[in-house]
Amino acid sequence: METIADYFGEYVFNDAVMQKRLPKETYRQLKETISKGKDLDLSIANVVASVMRDWALEKGATHFTHWFQPMTGITAEKHDAFIAPAGGGRVIMEFSGKELVQGEPDASSFPSGGLRATFEARGYTAWDPTSYAFVKGTTLYIPTAFCSYSGEALDKKTPLLRSMEALNEQAKRILRLFGHDEVGRVMTTVGSEQEYFLVDKEQFLKRPDLVYAGRTLFGARSPKGQELSDHYFGSLRPRVMSYMEDLDKELWKLGVYAKTRHNEVAPSQHELAPVFTQSNVATDQNQLTMELMRKIADKHGLACLLHEKPFDGVNGSGKHNNWSMSTDTGMNLLNPGDNASENAQFLLFLSAVIAAVDDYQELLRVSVASAGNDHRLGANEAPPAIISMYLGDELSNLLESIAADKPTGKKSREQMLLGVHVLPKFPKDATDRNRTSPFAFTGNKFEFRMLGSSFSVAGPNIVLNTIVADELSRFADRLEKAKDFSSELNKLVKENYLAHKRIIFNGNNYSPEWVEEAARRGLSNLKDTPAALARFLDPKNVEAFKKFHIFTETELKSRQEILIDNYSKTIHIEALTSIDMVRQQILPAISRYVGDLAGRVVARRSVSQSFACKADTALVEQLGGIEDKLYDAVGTLSDETAKAEKRERFEAATYYRDKVIPAMQETRKYADQAELLVGSSYWPMPTYGQLLYTV
Ligand code: ADP
Ligand code: MG
Repeated sequence: METIADYFGEYVFNDAVMQKRLPKETYRQLKETISKGKDLDLSIANVVASVMRDWALEKGATHFTHWFQPMTGITAEKHDAFIAPAGGGRVIMEFSGKELVQGEPDASSFPSGGLRATFEARGYTAWDPTSYAFVKGTTLYIPTAFCSYSGEALDKKTPLLRSMEALNEQAKRILRLFGHDEVGRVMTTVGSEQEYFLVDKEQFLKRPDLVYAGRTLFGARSPKGQELSDHYFGSLRPRVMSYMEDLDKELWKLGVYAKTRHNEVAPSQHELAPVFTQSNVATDQNQLTMELMRKIADKHGLACLLHEKPFDGVNGSGKHNNWSMSTDTGMNLLNPGDNASENAQFLLFLSAVIAAVDDYQELLRVSVASAGNDHRLGANEAPPAIISMYLGDELSNLLESIAADKPTGKKSREQMLLGVHVLPKFPKDATDRNRTSPFAFTGNKFEFRMLGSSFSVAGPNIVLNTIVADELSRFADRLEKAKDFSSELNKLVKENYLAHKRIIFNGNNYSPEWVEEAARRGLSNLKDTPAALARFLDPKNVEAFKKFHIFTETELKSRQEILIDNYSKTIHIEALTSIDMVRQQILPAISRYVGDLAGRVVARRSVSQSFACKADTALVEQLGGIEDKLYDAVGTLSDETAKAEKRERFEAATYYRDKVIPAMQETRKYADQAELLVGSSYWPMPTYGQLLYTV
């Protein structure tokens, strides 16, 4: 019997392969480059490239590609064959060190927010050797970062790597104060739980809204939804099971530790969670996961929906970003320790996260803003648009007692540090968790729960790493100067808690009382994407990114433009799809049905005037009324969309939000009313019931 271990990472040029195949010295130098984050020497690259090529050819590769993550949120690739002409019409397989470390995709059509005028130098891709190369299909994939020759980041990977570096530097300053000189590197770690829907492919193709917009723009409720909670963790149907088995296996071959699979709350909704790994690798692997989810669905006659809100009336899909920091010596910096010093260190890192989430709540909110996610945040199925954090009662009480100078437990010499001897072990049990919190401490990590299912995790992690690095640098500045380290530490944790405790909320985030309470506390409530993006360039945000060379102000502006345009374009596509569906499918269907009904009334009355035809006549009148309203509504939608299109940037986005979305909702309202009245054989597309219950 073949076991997972036999094929796990089979298609990955991982450490084991490198160690086995590279000359000893090359391997050592490459490892050093990776662990120190240095640039790769071309002579080493040449050796690595030729070994990598041979390995890839054995795995069936004919091409290689620099795999990168432009601002579109998905990945990009351009394949080059290994072939080179060798005299006499023969061919040899070539792949140089230069081709490995640097590529020049002519990628001028990617959105850059005006960063790269076409006359400017092209961007280039650079190998990120900390994320392993792999073979997928017939291509060797080399994970890369993409930037312009003048150094501007044109992708999501470059800033992510920079933010990881910033956090590494600042965390090490703190660790040195605790005597941890042995730590060479602090890495941020991410485990991203991915939700998705599966629907039948044939039905999917009959829905222009799913095809173009990724979500249904019409659809009356089905008689049964998620009210019985009978899908959550339910047993997996055979078709879904065979899909998941296939998916897991393909992911394992590519070295992704796909770990958990289960049914989610909504019918046809599922989740996959991997084992966490360092942030850049987790980002690559989540992209791979989403890509394979789609591809493998196709093989099974299914379509995988990664949109945040494919169906109204049942839960949408999110992505939980589990985040922590750990050292190359194996310490998880958010794990409460076993002695006073470890605990003090834990509380200091915790304090940095608390400060960061409070100081940069708008930035965190921006990092999860998109047209799709606007349907979830604040809709009682996902955290609200208000950022707050959950620490749990024990940890909150502990911070309270530190703030009140009331040491916990018995006094001892070790209590010098924060008056805390041994911290309670925090419950990691799922039942004890607050599932409504946007940012929850879960024992040894934080779970940022606001991400949309289709998101790249890069954006939110760039923000998280940067803002925590910023607070750590402030802490380090202060503590490095302190004459008496422990008493300064004490003061810092206490002051920090008092200054930022407003961000901590352990109650029910879905309750209306919280919205009021949050307003009293002065917390931001940025309800939608345009509102969030308007705060992106707040001076403190710009400062933080500049301080650690993550983004320049120009880069931030360009990103803001891309995001805001993306919002408008998304709604624009939805509006056009709605208009087409109504005019080309829904109105004609209603008309056909009404026409047939009316025809039958006439026919029956021609037999005998005594036929009342009560039901038919009433239906004709009722549907006729709805039809007229739908006709008017789609007219308004069409006009408003045309007006929105003439505007630019924020003006366009707010117009789409304030005028086009409501016009779309109004249109949908009548179409959905009609759906419940029109004979099912007349309705031009699969219904919610068919989509959600037939896989
Ligand atoms: P759940 O949140 O569903 O109860 P778990 O707590 O077991 O599940 O884990 C959820 C995710 O958190 C998994 O992807 C796991 O690998 C990840 N995770 C666990 N520890 C860490 C860590 N130190 N850093 C980042 N992610 C982590
Ligand atoms: Mg979770």
